[in-house]
Amino acid sequence: ATPLSVTVSTGRAAQMGVLIRSAEALETCGKINAVVLDKTGTITAGKPSLADVLPLGKWREMTDDLLAITASAERDSEHPLAAAIVAGAQEKHLTLGEATQFHAISGQGVTAHVASHSVAVGNTDLIDDLDVAMPSVGDEDLDDIIETMERLSAEGKTPMLAAIDGELAGIVAVADTVKADSQQAIAALKSHGVNVVMLTGDNETTAHAVANQVGVSNVIAGVRPENKADEIAKLQAQGYTVAMVGDGINDAPALARANVGFAIGTGTDVAIQSADVTLMNGSLMGLVHALDLTRATMRNIA
Ligand code: ADP
Ligand code: MG
Repeated sequence: ATPLSVTVSTGRAAQMGVLIRSAEALETCGKINAVVLDKTGTITAGKPSLADVLPLGKWREMTDDLLAITASAERDSEHPLAAAIVAGAQEKHLTLGEATQFHAISGQGVTAHVASHSVAVGNTDLIDDLDVAMPSVGDEDLDDIIETMERLSAEGKTPMLAAIDGELAGIVAVADTVKADSQQAIAALKSHGVNVVMLTGDNETTAHAVANQVGVSNVIAGVRPENKADEIAKLQAQGYTVAMVGDGINDAPALARANVGFAIGTGTDVAIQSADVTLMNGSLMGLVHALDLTRATMRNIA
């Protein structure tokens, strides 16, 4: 039978918006000594907004056209970055075109045809894979473009490259804010002796800029969605009992791999189904409360 203290703890956690699925998960919670946090939607609000549109080459004087074409290509993407680009274009009352041959490349970006143009929007890996050419007009070189992307990343923004008809056409950057209590929750975890790690598909510089804002020093950046679970396994191999917190479809395998998976309640259904615990109000303080409660419960049972 389930010990009474477990039932009581599960109920008390639920009152705080922390839904623990099983007695086993509750028990394992009490042993967690490493917490892996997805960046976007977990540490940050996950509602990024468009911050910069920097046209290159022959698009130099056509910022709105560049944004309209980029947003049209992103329209069918479910990624929060895509939603930010589309919302940014709509705010400027730009007319979006119909996209055909849309492809989402997980952890990299999208490609599509918009009007007579072939369009790609994504990170440097995507642009490399597609063999995109430098702008044929103007004197920007690769170093200038990389420098601009580094500057945007150092501000904690996520810069993306847009290519139109096989050549670089612009840099589009999206910014997300950290949740109000992420820093407090991370400080509490660290004071409990928990190893706190940030895991993200985003680039190293952006990841560190966000990590600095919330007091995380262990950062694993540039991780492809299919490799997130491996990073959890590596920590387990070092002897850690690992909690993973995530919100996205991408996070599901890592949530399942972790000793305890925590889904952000406002996240995707797939993440919630893959998790042992749901943080209903999305705050990382829920995780802190769960650890406090279960550590106390385990002391009572032992
Ligand atoms: P995260 O782990 O932060 O949720 P993802 O693994 O989903 O990130 O994506 C990694 C990177 O791939 C993003 O930071 C972005 O540069 C690029 N990317 C992914 N999806 C898109 C998209 N729809 N449009 C443009 N870029 C994208
Ligand atoms: Mg995410």
